[in-house]
Amino acid sequence: MTQTNKLTEQEKRALAEKRASELRNRIADYLEVKDSITTGFNARERIKRQKKLILDVLGATEDQWTDWKWQIRNRIYDVDVLAAIVNMSPREKEIIREVGSEFRWAISPYYASLMDPTDINCPVRKQAIPCINEVEDPHGVLDPMGEELTSPAPAITRRYPDRLIVNVTNQCAMYCRHCQRRRNIGEVDKNVPRELLSKALDYIRANEEIRDVLITGGDALMLTDNTLDWLLGELDEIPHVEIKRLGSRTPVTMPQRITPALCSMLERHHPLYVNSQFNHPLEVTPEAAEACGRLAQAGIPLGNQAVLLKGINDDYNVMKKLNHELLRIRVKPYYIFHAKNVKGTTHFGTSIEKGLKIMEKLRGHTSGMAIPTYIVNAPKGLGKTPLSPDYLVSLSPEKAVIRTWEDKLQDYPNKED
Ligand SMILES: *Cc1c(COP(=O)(O)O)cnc(C)c1O
Repeated sequence: MTQTNKLTEQEKRALAEKRASELRNRIADYLEVKDSITTGFNARERIKRQKKLILDVLGATEDQWTDWKWQIRNRIYDVDVLAAIVNMSPREKEIIREVGSEFRWAISPYYASLMDPTDINCPVRKQAIPCINEVEDPHGVLDPMGEELTSPAPAITRRYPDRLIVNVTNQCAMYCRHCQRRRNIGEVDKNVPRELLSKALDYIRANEEIRDVLITGGDALMLTDNTLDWLLGELDEIPHVEIKRLGSRTPVTMPQRITPALCSMLERHHPLYVNSQFNHPLEVTPEAAEACGRLAQAGIPLGNQAVLLKGINDDYNVMKKLNHELLRIRVKPYYIFHAKNVKGTTHFGTSIEKGLKIMEKLRGHTSGMAIPTYIVNAPKGLGKTPLSPDYLVSLSPEKAVIRTWEDKLQDYPNKED
């Protein structure tokens, strides 16, 4: 051990500089690649060109583009329209038709504009355009979470003591190819009728331990402002409901939904939280930033629930960049979900080692604010289970041996309670 009290100021400064350079080297690999990772900001010129092309193909105006109802009405679900926007082979067109007859697909014009038209491995394209693996999946099951068995009342999924989900619609602005609830995504868009939502509200009223209600779907923000205002208002009236959360991917797939009118309505229903699902830095665009900024301005804390997806974000540098980009647009990384074994999506699955490696490369290496919790969903609806690299090597009544983020082993004194 250096005797620090015997060092001159100069010697102390020299040691600190040596340590600083060591610290910088810890992230050398990230510093080398970070600017080459595509983001919605550094690809903005390409995205603008694609937007112009899509407006041409759809015969629409810039004004229409900013209208979320236009975005919904004009979701792309025709192979020929899609082929006019991104390069694709005749074989790929055939595959999309074949997969489309089994699993629904539709892409908002906005989300389509993020796709790199020439790259079949574009992370946005992979989330949006069907591929052959969806129908050649011998392993997946339709409902690995047993959600069908956890609904004590209409529209409700309850798997925890003090909180539950209300599923308000099966609609989304874009149908993710990795969707875990694809069994609910039919050909027909259905919002849950108010009389069923009223039954869900009755259940919540009758169960006083429910203090946290998550409104999701589908996508919670597919409801009209009016219906949401009504539902949130009913929840506000229930004394034991302390907080409400909305689950929506629209900040990612259709930021036009986040209008000033929506935000001023939501502002009347605090405490309210919104969780979204950004999976790749390419999705963090100026438009998404504006949408999130507007929600934040309305006092709504924003969280992100990413899904770990092979070929999209199963790289620790990409995941770190994603979390940095999210903090810049005021979104706090909340969860990284290990992809589930849902039929038609298992080609997105990664090893658990991959997830743990990502967590290892975040902790200590970057802001704690940029570190979500890595979650594996226990089968049969037994709940979210956090996984983490081990930092506790051993524990006895006298001491713990801990492993630091730099992989150094250290004794740490323990004591009795
Ligand atoms: C994920 C989930 C929740 C919320 O879990 P948190 O860990 O509190 O974010 C609540 N109910 C159900 C059924 C869920 O799947």
